[in-house]
Amino acid sequence: MRIAILKERATGENRVAATPETVKKFGALGADVAVEAGAGTGAAITDEAYRDAGAELGSADAVVREADIVLGVQAPDPALLQGAKPGAWVAATFDPFGERDRVDAYAQAGLEALSMEFMPRITRAQSMDVLSSQSNLAGYKAVIASADTYGRAFPMMMTAAGTVSAAKVFVMGVGVAGLQAIATAKRLGAQVSATDVRSATKEQIQSLGAKPVFVEEVEGIEGEGSGGYATEMSAEYQKAQAELVSAHIAKQDIVITTALIPGRAAPRLISDAQIATMREGSVIYDLAVAQGGNVEGSKPDEAVEKHGVKIIGFGNTAGHLAADASALFSRNLFNFLNAFWDEEQHKPVLDEEIGDAVRLTKGGKVVNERLHDTA
Ligand code: NAD
Repeated sequence: MRIAILKERATGENRVAATPETVKKFGALGADVAVEAGAGTGAAITDEAYRDAGAELGSADAVVREADIVLGVQAPDPALLQGAKPGAWVAATFDPFGERDRVDAYAQAGLEALSMEFMPRITRAQSMDVLSSQSNLAGYKAVIASADTYGRAFPMMMTAAGTVSAAKVFVMGVGVAGLQAIATAKRLGAQVSATDVRSATKEQIQSLGAKPVFVEEVEGIEGEGSGGYATEMSAEYQKAQAELVSAHIAKQDIVITTALIPGRAAPRLISDAQIATMREGSVIYDLAVAQGGNVEGSKPDEAVEKHGVKIIGFGNTAGHLAADASALFSRNLFNFLNAFWDEEQHKPVLDEEIGDAVRLTKGGKVVNERLHDTA
């Protein structure tokens, strides 16, 4: 069993899909791990550290040759994988809805694409869930980047020269990233409020000491929603939400938006007219900027200024904490393969529940139901 790790090729991607720790763990399972030279540079991991952990270092071609499994943060171009074994597995994020052509190319290349974003949100898969591990870091980083951009302090300070008032932070979308954003902003001493379409998040917001701000007149999504995810809301709900946001946002200093809907563009939560009501020097961080954005006018990796408000958002927020993000991502991948490792066959054998959920392509075909629905 040969596992290959390539250097990530996407612009600005500093993460890597294996660390010396996971290389060692794969070694203990009996697998050989090959790592492309320089793959860990962006995450502060040297070639030597990989070598010490037991990896073979080499060029992309050499690493991929005869590989049974390729691990990636973002799925590599299948053209890079020509030397891999026929039907080799590639476990990575594929952005299956956004990058449908790449999925088709994987099918054509006869590779088995395993999309880590499609990991089901079930208890036993929590340790394999890259969306959670990366969103958690992204929620933290969004607050830190906002605090850095904001020309004022976060905590209230009573000094001999007078009082500095606490920043007011509003978090929109309280999934994994939103919860971490609330916790981080609280730790920095801000006054925090938050909203979501899923009513189950109200209690979570309160338990972190923040104030829930919810649409009450139109029903949101009860319980956890479909598989824990939100769906697109009715026009009536969207109108009520816009009114609520307009009233609240004018009093906020920092707004962090994190709202996503799987398979669709991110919902628009803040319009230009609403931005205009915010006070000069306020900051909006759009965590959904790479998925189309929650905020009108936001641009990935660009600081946009509108009506005196700074709108920011990295295209790859977790990638700005590359060392931690790589460590967690790599463990997710290891936990995934390890959970299904078959001692006799010396390779992982996926079960139906998780295998069918994550498998995009097999035997030259696109086999995932969620993609057939959108074809
Ligand atoms: P996500 O990244 O898909 O979306 C972020 C948040 O935005 C969600 O809370 C969503 O409800 C919210 N949102 C969507 N549209 C909105 C709108 N118009 N206005 C306001 N908010 C909006 O979500 P996520 O972080 O992946 O988490 C989704 C759910 O999955 C959560 O309930 C989370 O606790 C659950 N989860 C479960 C597991 C597990 O059991 N293994 C793992 C991770 C997450």
